[in-house]
Amino acid sequence: MMRIVLLGAPGSGKGTQAQRLMGKYGVPQVSSGDLLRDAVARGTELGKQAKSVMDAGQLVSDDIVLGLIRERLSRADAANGFILDGFPRNIDQANSLNALLEEIGQPLDAVLLLDVRNETLMQRLAGRRICPKCGTVYNIHSLPAGATTCEKDGTELYQRPDDKEEVIGKRLAVYDQQTKPLIEHYSKLGLLRKVAGEGELEEVSERMEAAALAKPVPASKVKVTKTPAQAKRKNPAVKSAKPAAKGASKAASKAKSSKAKTKTKSKPKSAAKSKAPAAKGKAARKSAKKSSKAAARSTKKAARKAPAKKAARRPTKARKKK
Ligand code: AMP
Repeated sequence: MMRIVLLGAPGSGKGTQAQRLMGKYGVPQVSSGDLLRDAVARGTELGKQAKSVMDAGQLVSDDIVLGLIRERLSRADAANGFILDGFPRNIDQANSLNALLEEIGQPLDAVLLLDVRNETLMQRLAGRRICPKCGTVYNIHSLPAGATTCEKDGTELYQRPDDKEEVIGKRLAVYDQQTKPLIEHYSKLGLLRKVAGEGELEEVSERMEAAALAKPVPASKVKVTKTPAQAKRKNPAVKSAKPAAKGASKAASKAKSSKAKTKTKSKPKSAAKSKAPAAKGKAARKSAKKSSKAAARSTKKAARKAPAKKAARRPTKARKKK
């Protein structure tokens, strides 16, 4: 199951990456641009309406595009996921998509943003050539000098009308004005994952895949676990993992993760776990003996200065009283 949106400027590589993910995970690439180009090529009424807008580098009306997307997502092959490429392209489309996905019970897993510098975008778009027969995408900068045909089937390559230099600037401006706000929109929803979109194709694909598969962990489920040795060193009075983790979260986040990993690795997980309560109990008893009235009095004062210590000491005091 993979339900993702690919976000990125024209020329950022959304189509290429969508196809690679599709090949590997068997979920269809749903490209609004391809759906529109197909309608144009078939000469449908909708295609006729869309053509001039597309050739000018503007956005086709939301209604037209949403209709195409709705129809495409209702097909059987999209029942187990999809990779949306080029849709949504503005906030209204994002809201319509949200409503549509709720309706069909397929909420988004993630939105992957392909991050590419402007000068690279310009170079990619202006140099892009496509084989009309097999759809292979080339770039004149990487083709052998003077080559104008497809390496696979010898067909003459063509340039998309909206890849002409005078239109590219318009498309990038439309992206900046209308599509870029989606970055903030999806980050607020906790869905956005940014991927560096330059470098070797294979590398970018690996980053995309990792970003697509990464499972987000809700903050409420994040627990900071210390090894018994760490807990002892930091505060011998630590008995209960909960308050300690809360109060000492700042200190825990500073603890070097590599150190923590090595220590837990040296024991099997279960052993480390079963030993933890015993160590905590011992430490607590020691600490209870040591604690003096003066220390208890000073706790309040110290706690005001260092809330982490306060949280760790409370349970000690409570158990001692019992
Ligand atoms: P693309 O292949 O994604 O670069 O799209 C090519 C052209 O199709 C765009 O420049 C727009 O004119 C049109 N288009 C594609 N997707 C959308 C969309 N989501 N909303 C409006 N127009 C779109």
